[in-house]
Formats: sequence, C-alpha cells, structure tokens
Amino acid sequence: MAGELILIIEDNEKNRKLVRDVLQAKGYKTIETETAEEGIKLAIEKSPSLILMDIQLPGMDGITALKKLRTEAETKSIPVIAITASAMTYNRVTMLAEGFDGYQTKPISVKDFLEEVRRVLDSDQVKAV
Ligand code: MN
Repeated sequence: MAGELILIIEDNEKNRKLVRDVLQAKGYKTIETETAEEGIKLAIEKSPSLILMDIQLPGMDGITALKKLRTEAETKSIPVIAITASAMTYNRVTMLAEGFDGYQTKPISVKDFLEEVRRVLDSDQVKAV
C-alpha cells in the first residue's frame, strides 16, 4: 500500500528531485524542505508517515534534528530514515545506534531505497497495532 505522506529533508536539489520523483511514481505523497529547522516545523504541522533525513545539511545537521524530533510529542513516533553521502563516516550500524529507523547511502539505488521506505513504513504500522 502506497499513498502515505513522506517528508524529504535534503539540501541538494538533484537528490531531492530524484527522491521525490521515485516516491511519487510509486504513489507516495511528498513534501520537502532544504533545512532541518524547516523540516521539524513541517513534521509538526503535517504529521508525515515517514521522514527522509539528509545528514549533512546547512545549519542543523540531520542527527541533531532527529534528537529534536524525538523530544517533540507530535513527532517523536514518526520513523526517520537517514540518507547520507558519507558511508565511511555514517554507516548503518552507527546511524541505527543514533536512533534512526532506516539507512540509505547516496547516490540512492532506486530498488533498495523503495524497499527500505516500505520496510520502515510497514514496521511502524506493526508497532502501532
Ligand atoms: Mn546534504
């Protein structure tokens, strides 16, 4: 089942467009922003089913933003997938240990990316039941 609202927080326009196009082609709804600060506001306002969080952002970084989201009542249960270009610095193990629900590296592989999105959305629904 697609159709969920997904918030994309990504400062690189090309990456943002690719992620948006891939998700919309699968039937997901998307909203997007270039900064973590704006992303936190949007998450509170729009209650997305999932957040895709770039790690390296201007201003607040994605790891700090995750911590903020986890302190807000409106956003603390929203699953967040870390998206990073630095697989050496930020690997799946360290990102899950930071509290992210999923992990993908850039440039994304469309198939792996969509599978990770679905996996995280489905495991969140299981949690909610
Ligand atoms: Mn970035």
